[in-house]
Amino acid sequence: MFGFIKRRLGYKIMVAMLGIILLVLITEIYMRIYFGTKDRLEIASTISRELADSVYAGIKYPMELGDSEAIKIELTDIRKNAKDVEVFICNFDQEITYSTHEEKVKTKLAYSIQNKAALRTITETLKTGEVPEFDPRKPLEDIVSGRRYLIVIKPILNQKDCYHCHGSFRKVLGGLVVRYDAERTYAQVIAQRNRTFIIAVSLLPIAIALIYLMATRLVRRPVESLAEKAKKFAEGDMTVSVDIKTEDEIGILGNTFNYMVERVSSASKRLEEEIERKTALLNERTRLLGLLERANRDLRELDKLKSTFLANMSHELRTPMNAIIGYTELLLDGVDGPINDEQGKSLRRVVTNARHLLQLINDVLDISKIEAGKVELEIKEIDLKWLIDSITPTFEPLIKQRGLTLTATIDEGVPLVYGDEDRLKQVFINLISNAIKFTHQGGITISAKLSDRGIKAGETPIFAEICVEDTGIGIKEGDIERIFDKFVQVDLTTIRQYEGTGLGLSIVRGLISLHKGMIWVTSTYGKGSKFCFTLPLKKELLEKLAKPIVEPKMAEALAEYFGMPTETFLKSPELGGKPIRCWESVRCGQPSCPAYGTDESRCWLVLGTHCTGMKIAAYPEKVDFCKGCEVIKNIMLESERGDKPIKDESGTSAKKTILAIDDNPEAIDIMKKYLGDDYEVIGLLSSEKALEKAKEIKPLAITLDILMPKKDGWQVLKELKSAPETQDIPVIILSIVEEKKLGFSLGATEYVLKPVEKDVLLRKLRNLEKTTKVRRILIVDNDPDTVRLIGNVMKETGYEVTTAYNGKDAIKAIQDFRPDLIVLNLTMPEMGGSDVIEYLKTADGVRNIPLILLTQKDLSEKEIDDLNGMIQGILNKSVLAKEDLLKEIKETISKVSTG
Ligand code: ADP
Repeated sequence: MFGFIKRRLGYKIMVAMLGIILLVLITEIYMRIYFGTKDRLEIASTISRELADSVYAGIKYPMELGDSEAIKIELTDIRKNAKDVEVFICNFDQEITYSTHEEKVKTKLAYSIQNKAALRTITETLKTGEVPEFDPRKPLEDIVSGRRYLIVIKPILNQKDCYHCHGSFRKVLGGLVVRYDAERTYAQVIAQRNRTFIIAVSLLPIAIALIYLMATRLVRRPVESLAEKAKKFAEGDMTVSVDIKTEDEIGILGNTFNYMVERVSSASKRLEEEIERKTALLNERTRLLGLLERANRDLRELDKLKSTFLANMSHELRTPMNAIIGYTELLLDGVDGPINDEQGKSLRRVVTNARHLLQLINDVLDISKIEAGKVELEIKEIDLKWLIDSITPTFEPLIKQRGLTLTATIDEGVPLVYGDEDRLKQVFINLISNAIKFTHQGGITISAKLSDRGIKAGETPIFAEICVEDTGIGIKEGDIERIFDKFVQVDLTTIRQYEGTGLGLSIVRGLISLHKGMIWVTSTYGKGSKFCFTLPLKKELLEKLAKPIVEPKMAEALAEYFGMPTETFLKSPELGGKPIRCWESVRCGQPSCPAYGTDESRCWLVLGTHCTGMKIAAYPEKVDFCKGCEVIKNIMLESERGDKPIKDESGTSAKKTILAIDDNPEAIDIMKKYLGDDYEVIGLLSSEKALEKAKEIKPLAITLDILMPKKDGWQVLKELKSAPETQDIPVIILSIVEEKKLGFSLGATEYVLKPVEKDVLLRKLRNLEKTTKVRRILIVDNDPDTVRLIGNVMKETGYEVTTAYNGKDAIKAIQDFRPDLIVLNLTMPEMGGSDVIEYLKTADGVRNIPLILLTQKDLSEKEIDDLNGMIQGILNKSVLAKEDLLKEIKETISKVSTG
């Protein structure tokens, strides 16, 4: 209730002052009553005594004379003049003989005086004749009917003048008692007290008001004003100051406050200046960041344009280029009639230039993929010798033609390296072809040894060092640094004679760095060059490869932008519930896009994908690009374009039929001309009708393009492989897309990259006819010599061979390469042959792959039983001689092939 008192200082002071005033007042009233009563009683008792003395003096003479009438008159006068006074004259028996009050005469004194102490004193006085001791502060009191009286006693002594009447034997004849009514005195004291009280009570509000005013003026207001200023100050007003009116504590407080404001405002001014400076810097930085951001955006835009351009170039340039090469080779082959030498020369130039152009396109695509971090390595153990041996034969005709030599020396101690076989082949091919190109006499030497790079002396090597050395033209010292840069071809005066794109070494460097290796060159101008690079001997070195991480943040950005759930952009691409691929671009007008063929050229974002079929979130830079697209929901899948099969697709003939599926009529035309002599080629432009057509004509084999509108080659392949009527028809993929792994995993029999060479295609088809059951062989052994031995023989026999040096790589190779037969060492350490067998038993679609087991011991019957009929042969390596082993394998394979 009195909370407000607690809150306000002025009230507190006021209450304190009031308390003090009340205390003083109460004390004053008490003192007045106490001492006032006493003082007045003292006066009254003195008056009573003096009255008693004067009465005694007045009656003394008449008493001596025995003039009782005079005494009475005297007493009557007293009664008249002094109403408050009673006088009693008594004899020694305390009987009243005279009195101001006649009615009490002849009564006992005790009848009138009630106070026992007074009566006792009277008795004592009458007995002794002594005047009782008188203390005006402690007079004898009597209370009658509630009224207070003061009593004064005076003995009437027997003196000589009295002897004549009373004789002399009595000392005391009687006594004079004066009783004074003190009630008036008390009333006066009470009246005074009341006056004091009334004055105090009437002055109190004035005192309260005064105190309040003073407290407000002197304390509360200055403090409130100070508080107000402090608040303003706290809110940032640095101009506040307090008016100092007094020099008291409030004044000191005000002074201190002003001093504090002054100090803080000067500090704040300094701070503001500093902030202003920093803000200016920040603004400058933001401006620069903005510029940078814009530059980044521009770069992204350029990158986007580059990607689009490359994608366009990839298909739109490579397709006609393939057609040019195909038709020219047909002309050279004399398919359309004989040609003369000059025509032949010209046509050969056309082919060479077209191939050169195609190479340039492929190189540009490769380098842009490497730079965009979009090359994923298929890491496995690789036997360097085997790898080099598999490449060198390709160069043999050229080497021979130029009168050079090509040798390879691999140090004994070099173990298997880790890497992507295809990519490493590309590295070797680039380096060897450069070496051949720039060497006119002498030869090329390939060497491999253990490298001491990345280790201290005495530690186990972690890299192999491979060098390709030539005795060619060499490179000037100043050019060495530049040759790995894109499009750099040094010595431009002579370069025309060597051709090339200036991208080969950039690609090589990119691929080697993906393998965590390095590449360098030493050269003496005019004498030759030596290109060396390292490859890892430990898998861990490659495991640290930074792969694109699907960042939910990116998907979130798109989800927010398009107002769709985040998961939409994290899942695999699909359209209308069916998985789709939008391989090259989301821009309509691209053959790969579902809306290809429509007039519209809007940018479509296939849900869950980005433009090259990858998950969008893995490529942050694509997010902005994709925001410019429309999310595919109602895209038109049917184009208006007529996909009429070309003219002769209906017929069947005695010749074996090949169904050629390609959206490019020229490609089909070339196929017909390539194969027309030996096969009946039925072309089909519309991929959607592939299954129907295959069921209808039951071809010997199907050649299948991948990048086709509406339904791409992958979908066609899947359909063909899932329909019982068509699943056994071999499918040869002919494409510019290098996705062998996917092709084989979907059931393709062969995979040929465009431009297709007539001979290669014919050989593949013949092989298909010849060995219908076994074409691809996987050799799995931890011993590279064994793998090399068997592999080489199998290759020579015409099989396509893949190798693996442990169980894990073997399983991967089975998945990617889909071999028709596996030669497997059962007794490999760690993840070995039994794991591979376990995989073959349990995985889908691989259970029927025939196995030739290599062991180093004889298997028990139970072990053989466990292998459950998959085994075509068990060969004990430790007892069979090399030749016998190879003979046994060959025989087993031919049994399986024909079987
Ligand atoms: P290109 O396609 O022109 O060969 P590369 O990137 O492969 O492009 O090579 C770039 C340049 O490096 C070549 O043009 C050539 O000048 C130089 N060069 C590459 N290899 C050799 C070599 N073995 N001997 C001499 N010069 C070479």
